[in-house]
Amino acid sequence: TTGNGDAGDHRYHALMMFTKVDKSRSLQDKFRVAMLSMVKHGRFLEGEVLVLHFVSDEASKELGERMLQEFLLDATFKYEVSFHDVAALTQKLFPIVEAMQKHFSAGSGAYYSDAIFFLSVAMHHIMPESLTRIVQLDLDLKYRTNIRDLFQEFDHFPPGAVIGITREMQPVYRGHKSPASRPTDCIQLCGQATAAEYRHTFWQYRKENPQTRVGEPPPDGLPGFNSGVMLLDLGAMRASALYNQLLEPSNVAKLADQYRFRGHLGDQDFFTMIGMEHPELFYSLACGWNRQLCTWWRDHGYGEVFQLYYRCGGPIYIYHGNCNSPIPDD
Ligand code: UDP
Ligand code: MN
Repeated sequence: TTGNGDAGDHRYHALMMFTKVDKSRSLQDKFRVAMLSMVKHGRFLEGEVLVLHFVSDEASKELGERMLQEFLLDATFKYEVSFHDVAALTQKLFPIVEAMQKHFSAGSGAYYSDAIFFLSVAMHHIMPESLTRIVQLDLDLKYRTNIRDLFQEFDHFPPGAVIGITREMQPVYRGHKSPASRPTDCIQLCGQATAAEYRHTFWQYRKENPQTRVGEPPPDGLPGFNSGVMLLDLGAMRASALYNQLLEPSNVAKLADQYRFRGHLGDQDFFTMIGMEHPELFYSLACGWNRQLCTWWRDHGYGEVFQLYYRCGGPIYIYHGNCNSPIPDD
């Protein structure tokens, strides 16, 4: 280490969820694509360090350490790798997010182990005070540009913004009454929910408020957020009285009731819901920073409006192969 500790702006922190990776060949393949492309395009200045944080179980950690040795071989920059025990983080998180879990998980239960899907929401309380900025990244990404450029986006946050995030690129938050089958975006928090319980999001609210922008496509609508790439300004999150009020159980319940909100996507649902009421908390990252490729809703009742949500002009910096979508080679 360099004597400056975490104080300087020469350390760039990135965090990835990395659990049950030992059990999934598919996740291992995604991890390879993500890390090799990150290394290929990554450039940092002399004295700068990229710190890679992984939230993992013991078996995933052992595999991850071995895979990283190979993937980081060609890195032209300094890096550090830090593994965080998922059980220890869950224990810290659960009391903070327990009350919101029931609104943003399918089925009836608020399962203890699901708390980790809300890590980004309370990261500012979980990570040491010395950590003031971190980006959270999915594993199913492919980088087409220098990841250092992503961190520069923090400098564009307007006053009051605490999180930088890209919009959702499918009509997820348009609200569907009951999809034909279990949606593929419903992997982690759907438990044993029945099809009727997937009735999602703003369906009821939009029915009662036909003129609303909630759930409408860009540029004038509010399509919600996707959590595959997130800039978390932990310092701003700690300092924001508004943001911390919104975490309080009574306020979560109030907003969920106001918007008739029901979700199953964890942190992404929470940010989407509070973003409808308080857009000023969010810095809108260009769509090219999280170019989602999933087209599931195009073929499940939303063919006509799909393109309004899906299209993303401008340069693509990061591809996101969500719902197991293949990522183009270029
Ligand atoms: N993830 C994980 N273990 C799993 C499933 C998911 O660590 O068994 C993490 C991984 O970082 C992944 C993220 O959770 O990128 C979100 O899941 P995924 O990308 O599959 O969801 P999607 O983007 O398709 O909605
Ligand atoms: Mn993903």
